[in-house]
Amino acid sequence: EDEVAIYKERNAESLARYERACRVLPGGSTRATLYYPPFPVVIERGENNFLFDADGHKYLNFVGEYTAGLYGHNEEMLRDILSEIGKRGLMLSGPNIYEEKLADIICTRFQSISKVRFCNSGTEANLLALALARNATRKETALVFKGAYHGGFLTFGASGAPLNVPMKALIGAYNDVEGTRALIEKNKDELGAIIVEPMMGSGGCIAGDPVFLEMLRTAASEHDIVLIFDEVMTSRLSPGGLQEKLGIEPDLTSLGKYIGGGFSCGALGGRDELMSMFDLRRENGLSHAGTFNNNIASMIGGSIGLGKYFTGEACVSLNARGDKLRERLNEIAKEANTPVQVTGIGSVMNPHLGLETIKSPDDINHPNLQLFRMLMHLHMMNRGFYVASRGLITLNLKSTDDDIEAFEREFENFLQIYGAAL
Ligand code: PLP
Repeated sequence: EDEVAIYKERNAESLARYERACRVLPGGSTRATLYYPPFPVVIERGENNFLFDADGHKYLNFVGEYTAGLYGHNEEMLRDILSEIGKRGLMLSGPNIYEEKLADIICTRFQSISKVRFCNSGTEANLLALALARNATRKETALVFKGAYHGGFLTFGASGAPLNVPMKALIGAYNDVEGTRALIEKNKDELGAIIVEPMMGSGGCIAGDPVFLEMLRTAASEHDIVLIFDEVMTSRLSPGGLQEKLGIEPDLTSLGKYIGGGFSCGALGGRDELMSMFDLRRENGLSHAGTFNNNIASMIGGSIGLGKYFTGEACVSLNARGDKLRERLNEIAKEANTPVQVTGIGSVMNPHLGLETIKSPDDINHPNLQLFRMLMHLHMMNRGFYVASRGLITLNLKSTDDDIEAFEREFENFLQIYGAAL
């Protein structure tokens, strides 16, 4: 109650703006993810690892645009990108060298990707992946996992009613090796695709069990099913994506978020034979059009971002810092004697209530889950730490060691105040 009262008092201007926005935007915003009670703060601007809201508060940014804000607010990078755009202009109405450049970087980094198609979001990349799998196999059903998030139109268990999916969905249980194997065997003639996040992101940063993912690989190969790794969120966890760390090669990989250097971007990549179905020089080549697919801002943003700033070394170092933070938060929770654990991989993590091993989103349910999330969120927000209402914590390339230590101290403080109530 106190945290809610403090929050309301601190954020009067945000509330006024939120109410104004509700007149013309259903729910006050265009992104379902951004709503939380009592109302979200309105962000005015960003600088390095800081965000500033409408009431003049300064936050350390641990949302990092839900993993897309990997670069932080990097003025030098933005100048590099804008200067390059300035040399070329926008809307070139033809192929441009930057789409080849960005595709080259992606194909070099990701072992399983030999060709790429660009689009405008992670959702679109997944829709494209499913459409390609359907065309390649002539089978109409996709195996998805309960609690998975593959984009605004491909949600399998988040809050709110899901929008319709353009392929029949068979829903399996994440990390259930035997159950899923049996489900695939039973439906092998209808299954054209398996789409899976190698770590469930929105579902709570739940790592895929390597045995489970390996089983999906084997079963997909056996039964002419296209295995799609949705690495929209996880590709930043290792230079060649989480698949590199796991040593598993999917047939198709969807990418997005940071891949356009902060501009709207999605990409689908994979095996030559599948991706070449988009080659219009072939008879019956698949038509995949889109005005902004090769837009110069995203292509330049991505090639400069990946080429110069999020290099392989930068990726390894950022994720090592994330691992350290997660270990430290788990130690703090243990020392405070609270039933809190932090799951995740590298620079992307999520605290949960309950000490049982979490293998699927069902394991996250706890009688005090909503209270825990609300208290942690508002406590951190009221003290200048911008965190996601569902608890997601990410590091970005502008997060400093001091920022991380400050976060650890505030997390400890939070557990000391509220730990007993959990
Ligand atoms: N897939 C995963 C795993 C995601 O985390 C997201 C976004 O959060 C998406 C797909 C959708 O990407 P976008 O928001 O760019 O449409």
